[in-house]
Amino acid sequence: MRHPFDEIKKQIDNVAMSNKNVVALVDCDSFFVSCEQRVNPKLKNLPVCVLSNRDGCVIARSKEAKKMGIRMGMPYFMAKKDFPKAIYLSCQHDLYGEISKEVMAVLREFSPKVEVYSIDEAFVELTGLERLYKKNYTQIGEFLREEVMKRVDIPVSIGISSSKTLAKLASDKAKAMPEGVYRIHKKDIINVLEKTDISEIWGIGKNLTLMFHKNGILNAYELVTQTDIWLNSKIGIRGLEMKHELLGEMISPVDTSVKLPKSIQKTSMLSKFSSDLNFLKNSLNYHIHRACAKLRKIDAKCSGITLMLRTKDFKSYYEKRVLAKPTDFELEISNIVFELLEKMYNSEILYRSTGVILDGITQNSESQLFLFTDENADKKQRLTRCFDKLESKFGKDIIRTGFTPD
Ligand SMILES: [Mg+2]
Repeated sequence: MRHPFDEIKKQIDNVAMSNKNVVALVDCDSFFVSCEQRVNPKLKNLPVCVLSNRDGCVIARSKEAKKMGIRMGMPYFMAKKDFPKAIYLSCQHDLYGEISKEVMAVLREFSPKVEVYSIDEAFVELTGLERLYKKNYTQIGEFLREEVMKRVDIPVSIGISSSKTLAKLASDKAKAMPEGVYRIHKKDIINVLEKTDISEIWGIGKNLTLMFHKNGILNAYELVTQTDIWLNSKIGIRGLEMKHELLGEMISPVDTSVKLPKSIQKTSMLSKFSSDLNFLKNSLNYHIHRACAKLRKIDAKCSGITLMLRTKDFKSYYEKRVLAKPTDFELEISNIVFELLEKMYNSEILYRSTGVILDGITQNSESQLFLFTDENADKKQRLTRCFDKLESKFGKDIIRTGFTPD
């Protein structure tokens, strides 16, 4: 059966040529705090802050915490002293990652093109969806917002316009709107640009703001009135893209390809300096397990495996093996890591930390050809999936590929 999106996809490609795209930026409000409030609804409508790793500083604030005057990036000890009534929570990145996936899944049901931009933001192509949903684009935004709230219990703001840069600008404005949706229409672009400070534009940081200010360019309208040649000479092609995106042309389309990490690194200090081979193997097994779990999570394989050993006197040693066939199979990876270990290990040396680095990361679909050339692949695959099922049932780290101490 044909999916209703099939037709829309074709339309998007056609419209893209005629430059009538409509794109939304869906941005979760105070995302980490909203996740905590979903898990514990008692926290709703209270001044809540989420802290960075090891409770260093404030990285997310509820509306109420913002109103109190708690600033982003404020060190925890300072915030706690100045605002003792606020609630401070340690971050739970795993939880935020899981809820993020739920949000993205709802968006993917809505549109055939979704680009996950960060853990709490995604660009959603709306071009052509007016007809499918029988609503105008602003109403589609409102519907999408209600749907995410109803199904995932996470509030979002939605900016809509004809380019990603304008959609991003619109989402900032949407945050101040009670309905949480704001659309910048083509006819309003110039008006909006005149009121937009140069520093508010997506992709313009401190240094670029300073450069524009030095040249007397203070708002977005003044930027788009510069010549292409001038912008190119100052910040290169990025400047041209910015100008045309601000004018409502979709220069950077919604990119649905999955961005794979270049490498996955798992390293840690040992609980004590050691030259005990089995102790090192144990710590490496833990790293291998976590690295492989990550591989499976992103549905990828690796072809490069590196072992890292750091000695008591901070000397680091690396040994790498490149595989002909990419793998995500834990036993295979641990066998290789242990071979490398036997090669590098020196019983005279005390080690302080160990690590495993996987690189040459490729999507599973790209390496599927190899499945048919490896008789054991199917067995391996089933075993790996079995690990994951057990883990999701009994919790993380319930099983690991073991080794028998001599
Ligand atoms: Mg956000």
